[in-house]
Amino acid sequence: MNWSVDDADVLILGAGAAGLMCAIEAGKRGRRVVVLDQSSKPAEKIRISGGGRCNFTNRHTTPANFLSNNPRFCVSALRRYTPQDFIHLIDAHGITWHEKTLGQLFCDHSAQQIIDLLLAECAAVGVEIRLSQRIRGAAKPDERFSISTDAGLIRSESLVVATGGPSIPKMGASGFGYDVARHFGLTVIPPRAALVPLTFGPEVLAWSKDLSGVSVDSEVGFGKTRFAEGLLFTHRGLSGPSILQISSYWQDGEAIEVDLARGIDVFDMLKRARTEHAKRELGTVLAGIVPKRLADRIVEETAVNGRLADLSDKRLRAVADRINRWRIIPNGTEGYRTAEVTLGGVDTDGLSSKTMEAKAVPGLYFIGEVVDVTGHLGGFNFQWAWASGHAAGQAV
Ligand SMILES: Cc1cc2nc3c(=O)[nH]c(=O)nc-3n(C[C@H](O)[C@H](O)[C@H](O)COP(=O)(O)OP(=O)(O)OC[C@H]3O[C@@H](n4cnc5c(N)ncnc54)[C@H](O)[C@@H]3O)c2cc1C
Repeated sequence: MNWSVDDADVLILGAGAAGLMCAIEAGKRGRRVVVLDQSSKPAEKIRISGGGRCNFTNRHTTPANFLSNNPRFCVSALRRYTPQDFIHLIDAHGITWHEKTLGQLFCDHSAQQIIDLLLAECAAVGVEIRLSQRIRGAAKPDERFSISTDAGLIRSESLVVATGGPSIPKMGASGFGYDVARHFGLTVIPPRAALVPLTFGPEVLAWSKDLSGVSVDSEVGFGKTRFAEGLLFTHRGLSGPSILQISSYWQDGEAIEVDLARGIDVFDMLKRARTEHAKRELGTVLAGIVPKRLADRIVEETAVNGRLADLSDKRLRAVADRINRWRIIPNGTEGYRTAEVTLGGVDTDGLSSKTMEAKAVPGLYFIGEVVDVTGHLGGFNFQWAWASGHAAGQAV
């Protein structure tokens, strides 16, 4: 093996969205930039993102779309690198895109186009990307950082940690960035899986698992937070955008409130149906409001059935509440195995919101998902990766 000692102005750990954006910006400033990644391919999460089309930003990005112990931390970086800035970049590369829903922008063709764009921009400013690198440790024995890898030692003026969070470990995701943070005395807010399907215990699964594949327009709430998007029953519990969104807020042991027929006042509808079609069976009417399989299950579970004419307001209310106000306690989440992101991470109290530099360790930067800033579903996590990478890229 070629063991060497090398020098760089800026060493970036992680060739993902944030690391590559930072590399481009630092390269534009004439810095000698080296990016190290343990994977054999760069930016694997971009490749699989957005169902292979990469939801690369969201037009409606505001700080309210992010969770953090300090909700104001993201403001400065997001203001200085906006969704429009990233749109300009992809337009300049001739990548065509479309808006799907709720401001979410996707490539028309493939997420690989975003990776190719980032690699082309890196090449244009002389960034060197070294893949399949196993990093053994990071230290700052003097004015410079010292990173040891299986291939040798690299010394640098600035060290940028952009190694993401531990979600999807089978893609090589790890908590390595947290170890580096702790090594340099920074605090790490305990991480947990977010944007992740919720699971049910055996009792709830006994009736719900046959609904696997059923989807509805829903509104899902936890406390004051509510999301109005699709919901999908799975063989483990619940998924779909509204569930992934609420998973970032849900607390263990607590109930979520689910409206399985968003925009429809089911009680009102059933009462009207009773006046107009008194002889109709409840199950038939319900099957016009929610998918039939779900309607059958609700009739079974509430034990309310028969002709509408024979059902009291109280009984109709019980059925309606089961649809519009279903309170259910998940027994957990699917965990990092399927989580799109990780909540928590490097405590922003220890970082400059302008540059992402560690306040107590000059020259050390944390960007992207490794930081305690987590976006909602819908392109916000990449916008944070671009914005935080861009902010650090001006300073490293
Ligand atoms: C299935 C899926 C779909 C997603 N879709 C979207 C979407 O459409 N829109 C959106 O906004 N967000 C999406 N996300 C979230 C988004 O991918 C992440 O928030 C984003 O990639 C974070 O960027 P990052 O650069 O901080 O980290 P990453 O992109 O995770 O990059 C980190 C890099 O560091 C490397 N690394 C890790 N540990 C080490 C180590 N010890 N040594 C060296 N290198 C290391 C990794 O190999 C990786 O290349 C999705 C996530 C998943 C899992």
